Amino acid sequence: MSKQKIVLKYPTHVVEEPVIYNLVKDFDLKVNILKADISPRKEGRMVVEIEGDQEKYLKAVDWLKEQGLGIFGLQQQIVWREDLCTECGSCSAFCPTGALEIQRPEMRVNFNESKCVACEHCLMVCPVRAIEAIKEET
Ligand code: SF4
Ligand code: SF4
Repeated sequence: MSKQKIVLKYPTHVVEEPVIYNLVKDFDLKVNILKADISPRKEGRMVVEIEGDQEKYLKAVDWLKEQGLGIFGLQQQIVWREDLCTECGSCSAFCPTGALEIQRPEMRVNFNESKCVACEHCLMVCPVRAIEAIKEET
């Protein structure tokens, strides 16, 4: 048995397909959706925890790639560039885990890497590109 946290990137043509249902039904995996940002006819992303037999998991990964999904392991590193950050606070509103948060009463932004699940929501909202992802595709 293995448990993996991964980020699934959905191209537009897959967004309305029952991908998670197929992972459960065809590969006998348990899928826990940690975060989803999926809209019709738009690229989307989902952070999931997948539990099950390792061999079935690897077959599921191959199937996901065949469907055109991007798969990134959460061992990828998110880097917060404090020197570029303007402390606008936008990222903290979108961070699902509190890894990026505003510390009170100073109202300073703080990045706690140990809480980060590499979902990349912060990358999309940062106006000055103070957050970078160093990716390692699985
Ligand atoms: S990638 Fe950004 S938004 Fe996602 S958990 Fe990490 S710090 Fe929060
Ligand atoms: S969105 Fe970017 S500039 Fe704003 S607080 Fe977050 S890292 Fe800093």
